[in-house]
Amino acid sequence: MEKKVSRIGVLTSGGDSPGMNAAVRAVVRTGNYHGLEVYGIMRGYQGLIEDDIFRMDSRSVANIIQRGGTILKTARCKEFFEYEGRKRAYENLKKRGIDGLIIIGGDGSFRGAVNFSNEFDIPCIGIAGTIDKDIQGTDFTIGFDTAVNTAVEAIDKIRDTMDAHDRIFIIEVMGRDAGYIALHSGIATGAENILIPERKTDMDAIIKSLLEKERRQKLVNLIVVAEGDDFGGANQVQKILKDKLPNAEIRVCILGHIQRGGSPTCIDRLIASRMGYHAVESLMEGRYNVFVGIQNNKMHYIPLEKAVKNKGKISEEWMKIVKILALINITNKRLLKQV
Ligand code: ADP
Repeated sequence: MEKKVSRIGVLTSGGDSPGMNAAVRAVVRTGNYHGLEVYGIMRGYQGLIEDDIFRMDSRSVANIIQRGGTILKTARCKEFFEYEGRKRAYENLKKRGIDGLIIIGGDGSFRGAVNFSNEFDIPCIGIAGTIDKDIQGTDFTIGFDTAVNTAVEAIDKIRDTMDAHDRIFIIEVMGRDAGYIALHSGIATGAENILIPERKTDMDAIIKSLLEKERRQKLVNLIVVAEGDDFGGANQVQKILKDKLPNAEIRVCILGHIQRGGSPTCIDRLIASRMGYHAVESLMEGRYNVFVGIQNNKMHYIPLEKAVKNKGKISEEWMKIVKILALINITNKRLLKQV
């Protein structure tokens, strides 16, 4: 049954992503605009269980829209997997009269919210914050654009030195289950090969094409690998290639946590602001236990339990673009099939 909310809590949970602060700001200011009391909860579900909760007003979110990380901090919280932990969390909300919760996080955080709202009388709204863009039902997640731009900037720099030395470079980007960072940053930096978890990589074909390029003295090659690819990341790929290309100079660079930090891009700030605003509106309108997504530039409200990982969704067309744009001196379609 629909009930009016008057006090809402906001938390950031799971892996952090640039733009989470912009979402917190939007939630606080939209809530205040509607006359709601807004409470910040520190360290995700951990702070909820430990009662680390404080009142936020519009001024408390001044000057954070441009900052990476999250002022509310984030955590992974074991106790929240257990009913007892969730019960303590509920009691802390209840004693303050908090009657709505906004969770900024990934699919794991949303699964926690589903369990929580099923067991207790707390409507939950999710905002998709993850650099991996691995949540089904939304074209954007907060932090993806910033992470990709960081990766592109780093890869461009590596390309300079790689080119100067005629090297093969294997660059590992984040993405344990989703290859979007690898795909987007790889295409944007002109990678010859992109290895992602969603698609089976034909390593024999890559080796064949590298050997062929070696013969043509095309020694510079950029390979972008998602950390969750079939082979277990860039170091493993290097081992395989070294074996088959003993004369090639092959280097590895793992970009790592640099991709999580930094000032959010304009796109991430906009997405976060829109999602934060609509999350509060959704609570006000009695649309509960959904997460806010954007599809074809329109807001969508998707049931939280449908927030499954977006695996296996990368189309054939993307991979074809990678192949065609990486070709130099090959105009023959038959040869394209071998690359
Ligand atoms: P993300 O939200 O980035 O996917 P995690 O998967 O680590 O990150 O989830 C963040 C937190 O959400 C977990 O540490 C846990 O507290 C909570 N959580 C995740 N899955 C569940 C679940 N099935 N039941 C209860 N809580 C969960």
